[in-house]
Amino acid sequence: MSATPQSILEDTFGYTEFRSVQRDVIDHVVAGNDGLVLLPTGAGKSLCYQIPALLFDGVTLVVSPLIALMHDQVSALAQLGVEAAFLNSTLSPQAQQAVFDALDTATTKLLYIAPERLMQPATLQRLSQCRIRFIAIDEAHCVSQWGHDFREDYLSLGRLKDMFPSTPVLALTATATKPVRDEIVSRLRLVAPRQFVTGFDRPNIRYDVQSKHAPKQQLHAFLQRHRGHAGIVYCMSRKKTEDTAISLTQAGFDALPYHAGLDAATRNRHQQRFLSDDGIIMVATIAFGMGIDKPDVRFVAHLDLPKSIEAYYQETGRAGRDGLPSEAWMIYGLQDVVRLRQMVDESTATDEFKRNERAKLDALLGWCEVTTCRRQALLAYFGDERDDACGHCDVCDLPPEVFDGTLPAQQLLSAVFRTGQRFGAVYVIDVLMGKTSDRMTKNGHTALAVFGIGRDYTQAQWRSILRQLLVQGFLTVDTGGYGGLALTEKCRPLLRGEVALPLRKDLLKSPVRQKIKKSKVSLNDADSDLFDALRACRKDLASEQGVPPYVIFHDTTLASMAALKPVTKQQLLTVSGVGQSKLDRFGQAFISVIERYLDDRDPATV
Ligand code: ADP
Ligand code: ZN
Repeated sequence: MSATPQSILEDTFGYTEFRSVQRDVIDHVVAGNDGLVLLPTGAGKSLCYQIPALLFDGVTLVVSPLIALMHDQVSALAQLGVEAAFLNSTLSPQAQQAVFDALDTATTKLLYIAPERLMQPATLQRLSQCRIRFIAIDEAHCVSQWGHDFREDYLSLGRLKDMFPSTPVLALTATATKPVRDEIVSRLRLVAPRQFVTGFDRPNIRYDVQSKHAPKQQLHAFLQRHRGHAGIVYCMSRKKTEDTAISLTQAGFDALPYHAGLDAATRNRHQQRFLSDDGIIMVATIAFGMGIDKPDVRFVAHLDLPKSIEAYYQETGRAGRDGLPSEAWMIYGLQDVVRLRQMVDESTATDEFKRNERAKLDALLGWCEVTTCRRQALLAYFGDERDDACGHCDVCDLPPEVFDGTLPAQQLLSAVFRTGQRFGAVYVIDVLMGKTSDRMTKNGHTALAVFGIGRDYTQAQWRSILRQLLVQGFLTVDTGGYGGLALTEKCRPLLRGEVALPLRKDLLKSPVRQKIKKSKVSLNDADSDLFDALRACRKDLASEQGVPPYVIFHDTTLASMAALKPVTKQQLLTVSGVGQSKLDRFGQAFISVIERYLDDRDPATV
């Protein structure tokens, strides 16, 4: 009997049902059509091209931006008994030759390749002699100039249509607004592509954004909820990643730094530990993450704001690929707003580009300040409108209080104006609070009418008010680099008292929340002992094979084993995530663990 999408899903991948659009995409591609797949991270994009690859009688090219990712995917496929290979600069000429030989005989079903390598004339020439039946372009948003991680070498991929005019091309991405999607279609020259777009929601991720007042303590408090969990803490600068990693280590967390300034060996070692050990916290710049496929990342924390909602969504998307409860947590403050605004203003890019960046930043800042459901607002940004609040974000859990900020806003704006629109946040707030300094006396600002009129509010409250005025466009930061504040046109009606200004009261304390469930689904204590034993077995197998543990089996699969306790191969095959190849190779090892566990249990309870 010949293979069908369903039989491959079951026999090779060990799953019983297709998710959302997977089946439609596969049928569409197998019928020879182009398409664009837009699915959130963790939704299962890979199967959309891996299954067609196994159905076609030739080779499938998978264009992927990162070498590290290729290696992981190829070894994960090898565990499933699927022949895949990758071509990149790390291979010796002999190894490359061997890859091409296997392509000629079409024993290799999937070839992973980076765009710059693929588009080299020699590579294209060589590949034109192979039976290329299908081309999948992963992370396709990289072709977009206006996307957030544009890659020059993705631009030339449109030329593939000249080389392989009748080969179906499937573009896949997790983040794309409508304009980015249109750009993907035109740049890749997709022919009448059907677009498979599902909702963007990542229901297992809880979103939480707080104002920044004591970053270190706030982070530690957050991490207490995630003891023993793997996660990523994003920081803006290299130095901050190092300092944060040290402070976390001192506080007893298993944390490692990662940034582009570390030498390759150290970066590699840290990444390997993150992938293969349980519960490592990676404190990183955005240099870390692209292509990290680890399914059990339980949280992504941002100590500094990213530069757009797209970037935020992609970074937080690295949490919870396995579908288990996870958190996206971020703190931000006045300083972030000032810094990011300045970065855009001072960049040497074209005006059009800057306008675009500014608009993206403003969208992110506005989102940080929302007083309605955070998830709803996030999804709306991507054009995915929802009627109901999610009940599972910081705003839903504890709606922020709003107060009439008209008077303090007027006072603050007036202090900015009276001091000559040259001073930064600290100075202006000092004036309002009546804190004298030599500089202030010399400037004659202690004599101003606004001096000391703001003693009713704390410094933190003033910073919050100032931040909101900046975000809402009542104030700008000068581009000279000194952070001087200036008024905008928008201030007039407010200063004249013609409009009122509701502001949000920042919560200085996070609400006490239920501890995030451990990543053990819902196991009772006894099952959770078995789960730990199964994990230990997985760890041994993983080190033997030199692959990360999740390549053997995911946590969700081990949790099902712990609950179902299969003791025959037939039973084990019914566990989601167990396919024929993994059953043959690892089945006995896990069955032995389960048998031992059942034998050890008190006979009276069996
Ligand atoms: P994406 O590339 O969209 O982020 P992946 O392709 O890595 O997501 O898939 C995420 C996880 O979901 C993987 O562990 C994958 O094996 C699993 N998965 C995909 N499709 C199915 C399915 N139909 N049934 C069960 N698990 C699936
Ligand atoms: Zn919500």
